[in-house]
Amino acid sequence: MATERTIGRFAHRPQVAFFDFACCEGCQLSVLQLEENLLEILEHVDVVTWREAMSEESSEYDIAFCEGSITREEDIERIKRIREKAEVLVTLGSCASGGCHNELKNQWSMEEMTGLVYGDHADEIDTIPSRPISAVVDVDYQTFGCPVSLPEFVTVVKRILTGQSYDPPNQPVCVECKHNDYLCVFEKGTVCLGPVTRCGCGAICTAYGDPCRGCRGLMDSANLGALLKAWTREQAHAILGKVVERYGFTEEEILARVRVYNNWPELELPDLSPEEAGPDGD
Ligand code: SF4
Ligand code: SF4
Ligand code: SF4
Repeated sequence: MATERTIGRFAHRPQVAFFDFACCEGCQLSVLQLEENLLEILEHVDVVTWREAMSEESSEYDIAFCEGSITREEDIERIKRIREKAEVLVTLGSCASGGCHNELKNQWSMEEMTGLVYGDHADEIDTIPSRPISAVVDVDYQTFGCPVSLPEFVTVVKRILTGQSYDPPNQPVCVECKHNDYLCVFEKGTVCLGPVTRCGCGAICTAYGDPCRGCRGLMDSANLGALLKAWTREQAHAILGKVVERYGFTEEEILARVRVYNNWPELELPDLSPEEAGPDGD
């Protein structure tokens, strides 16, 4: 039975709601898989709305976990309404915090894109360039990953309930990879977006020998110019040079990989030409 007591910043037991916008809903599903952690969290909060998990819903909530991207005009109005109601708004996963796959459509005009996908029915589709929730309203906490990093989700919940802020890590995945002594996948002849991707996942992919594909999005200070230079020009690192020689990247191919998780309209990618990258690649 819930008891009425002060929890962190809340003067009462906080009410939690989950909302989804355009996405696969895999982040909500991942949170449901928290199992024992979830039961522990439920000792401290009341979940009042969670379409993926329960039938009940409520228009009253303190904490809103919002998943997905903004892809329609009506989404903008909806997220603004949620923002107004929620004392705390958390973006759940990379669609909401950074952009993710939804933004692949941004490489075309909306007319071209709807024509390609919906043909004769294109006129019936209401859509705008995709962008993360964090680009539309103020956000109090962000979690990243596709799907969301569960350790980061748990950390954020604890910070909310204890009234602490959370700054997402802003270093490359390489830091966690090296910290754990994982073999760099470049040594196996595989390219990896770890040098420009925000860490915080524990380098879980490289731990198992897979490359980082950038699902947590670019870190704030990502030096794409240097990446272009290192992957497209002859340079000192013999192993990396061999990988580049084997794959024969073009700048477009590299940025195509980057854009899988980072393609929102306001994002400024560097000039695609390595000549424009400058002597240090920046
Ligand atoms: S971040 Fe990935 S797993 Fe989460 S909703 Fe978006 S596409 Fe799905
Ligand atoms: S495997 Fe990737 S993340 Fe790890 S050190 Fe190498 S480039 Fe960096
Ligand atoms: S290693 Fe890269 S692709 Fe894998 S979870 Fe971490 S950020 Fe995502």
